[in-house]
Amino acid sequence: MGARIIDGKAIAAEIRQELKQQVEEMRDRHGVVPGLVTILVGQNPASVSYVTAKQKTAHELGFYSVQEDLPEDVSEEELLSMVDRYNNDPKIHGILVQLPLPKHINEKKVLNAINPDKDVDCFHPVNIGRLVIGGEEVRFLPCTPAGIQELIIRSGFETSGAEVVVVGRSNIVGKPIAIMLLQKGKGANATVTVVHTGTKDIPSHCRRADILIVAAGVPEFVKGDWIKPGACVIDVGVNRVGEKKSEKTGRMVPILKGDVEFETAKEVAGAITPVPGGVGPMTITMLMRNTVRAAEYTIKG
Ligand code: NAP
Repeated sequence: MGARIIDGKAIAAEIRQELKQQVEEMRDRHGVVPGLVTILVGQNPASVSYVTAKQKTAHELGFYSVQEDLPEDVSEEELLSMVDRYNNDPKIHGILVQLPLPKHINEKKVLNAINPDKDVDCFHPVNIGRLVIGGEEVRFLPCTPAGIQELIIRSGFETSGAEVVVVGRSNIVGKPIAIMLLQKGKGANATVTVVHTGTKDIPSHCRRADILIVAAGVPEFVKGDWIKPGACVIDVGVNRVGEKKSEKTGRMVPILKGDVEFETAKEVAGAITPVPGGVGPMTITMLMRNTVRAAEYTIKG
């Protein structure tokens, strides 16, 4: 039997609808409109398209949004002073500096200069510390891991008591999702194993997983026979493996593959995310959710 496809686009649309309502309520009751600034340095085509998509979504949700375009050769000092200006701007609740930054700028220094209460990407060490402590300490969740957690919950899989295996230990996906799922609480409380290049016999770990999360950045790394029958498989990978002509526009578009061999995995898994259309659409939605939360904190104090 084929796996159920977890439709990230549909789940993201559902969450955006909920956020839109929250934004309206916040504006009507408290006169507060969530504000997001996206700061882009240079014109890297991938970064331009990410920032455009973030701005478009912010606009659709009724945010106050600002796009800052800085030249490739902007100095670190100028960028830091822009961050500082938005740290002190009460209309802005979320600051996003699009990565990667040019080599002459110290990325860590810039990210650490963002006020942690406006750090909607959740990269600041203060917010990572809060995430590790868990519970009421947590202000924001990092966007891709938050999207993964929502996909699992909203597609009906129980995390409490589940064996979760995470492939990959990056700071933006593997480590934070592992921490989030091992916390005590709803949508978590799992037994988590993280595997990486130092792990012996990765397939044997994967085969134990009720929920398998793969973020390795290696196309089709996980095969169908590594998957426990009926498991929930979340494929985070987005790998460009070539180009093809789009049937719609006639233009060349990238061919994308996930980190899971979809054709063999879907025969064994209970549910699986496609690539594209799985985790991808959730990431921007979670950025918007963090911005709404940041605005809420200014009301609650
Ligand atoms: P990353 O920083 O390159 O980390 C990859 C991790 O996988 C590392 O921990 C690495 O282990 C592990 N790994 C790589 N090859 C392995 C192998 N052969 N055996 C075992 N472990 C292996 O990647 P990332 O930033 O986490 O991203 C992972 C994938 O998710 C990429 O395809 C990326 O494009 C995609 N992604 C998608 C979204 C989205 O919104 N859809 C967001 C972020 C990332 P070591 O630590 O031992 O080197």
